[in-house]
Amino acid sequence: MPKNIALLGATGSIGRQTLEVVEQLGGSCRIVALTAGSNRKLLEEQARRFRPELVVLKDPAEAAGLEHSLKDPGCRVESGPAGLIEAARWPTADLVVLALVGFSGFAPTLEALEAGKTVALANKEALVVGGEVLAARGLLNRDKILPLDSEHSAIRQALGDTPLEQVSRIWLTASGGPFRDWDERRLARATPAEALAHPNWSMGPKITIDSATLMNKGFEVIEAHWLFGAPLEKIRVVIHPQSIVHSAVEFIDGSIIAQLGPPDMRLPIQYALSYPERRANPWPRFDFTGRDLSFTEPDRARFPCLDLAYRAMEAGGTAPACLNAANEVAVEQFLKGMIGFPDIPRLIERVMRMHTVIPKPDQHDLEKTDRWARRRAAALIRQSADRS
Ligand code: NAD
Ligand code: MG
Repeated sequence: MPKNIALLGATGSIGRQTLEVVEQLGGSCRIVALTAGSNRKLLEEQARRFRPELVVLKDPAEAAGLEHSLKDPGCRVESGPAGLIEAARWPTADLVVLALVGFSGFAPTLEALEAGKTVALANKEALVVGGEVLAARGLLNRDKILPLDSEHSAIRQALGDTPLEQVSRIWLTASGGPFRDWDERRLARATPAEALAHPNWSMGPKITIDSATLMNKGFEVIEAHWLFGAPLEKIRVVIHPQSIVHSAVEFIDGSIIAQLGPPDMRLPIQYALSYPERRANPWPRFDFTGRDLSFTEPDRARFPCLDLAYRAMEAGGTAPACLNAANEVAVEQFLKGMIGFPDIPRLIERVMRMHTVIPKPDQHDLEKTDRWARRRAAALIRQSADRS
């Protein structure tokens, strides 16, 4: 029986690579639903190729146009957030691949898990913002969430069935991004184009900027906490510029198991799609000979986003939702050239200081905080633009 897959965020970097993996896996996977935010042309091509039962496009008018041009009576076309939820709960789907960006992925993740689906999760912001809510609802079952993030896939592979009591540390590796060796003066002038030129990975724009600020690594610490139940003090971030060791688990006897491979997201995607089996593929391999692998401490002063993420996690409740929303706005405005690179952590910190944390939040509290923090961040940007 093929595994039936609903893919949310099909036109993005993870989405496109997921479809490549599905093709590579041959008949063992079948696409039953595809969703996209804006790229109608690509979604239509994907729908023609994979023949899903449902396609969802964010904008209703665009979705109506797609329905007209697809002319496929076997394929339903939906739109908007309700369409995303429908895809997340699609009855014939066994596995839901969450490749949306930001807070937009939280509600679909929650709904897919509540519908009993297995979720292959790339959308780390869903866990960052909503880990506490998902945990309170008993939805963080390790058999139900397969991490697509390369580090968390590595940790999962290294952990196997070992109970957390036998783990002394999780080593979370980070490439350090394009600005790893830049001093503060140079960082102050960093442009969006420079920040988008990641040395090892080709990813969507939001995560590429998050990698340059190290917010991505802060998010991944929170993600590891919720996925593996590890307290923050057991998670250690280390800069590893070559991105070959994807992360490692150190056990109480001092033994360390790491997962290695070329920096290629198709590997963790394939691991999740073919899980629990491993399948052969023709992609490039890592050769140990002639390679130097290095590891250093992250510079928390030049990259304050890492500590902002720790602070949000320690505060708990709605603090990570505030962190994430302020970050989404800051990244968007940096990409538009409206704020500088060092303004990203400054803005997030200011919004976080203004936030009154709601403990033990529900979904409504997260949504309220998300809206509040976006408005606050936008207002602060406007104020400083008016002053200058
Ligand atoms: P991307 O921007 O390339 O793609 C995002 C996809 O989601 C697109 O299909 C887009 O149309 C859709 N989308 C975005 N906002 C939407 C909205 N509001 N409503 C409906 N659809 C929307 O992003 P990506 O790089 O593929 O990243 C996806 C997720 O995976 C992120 O959370 C990212 O942090 C995580 N991730 C990505 C990589 C990578 O290599 N790209 C690696 C690890 C983790
Ligand atoms: Mg990662």
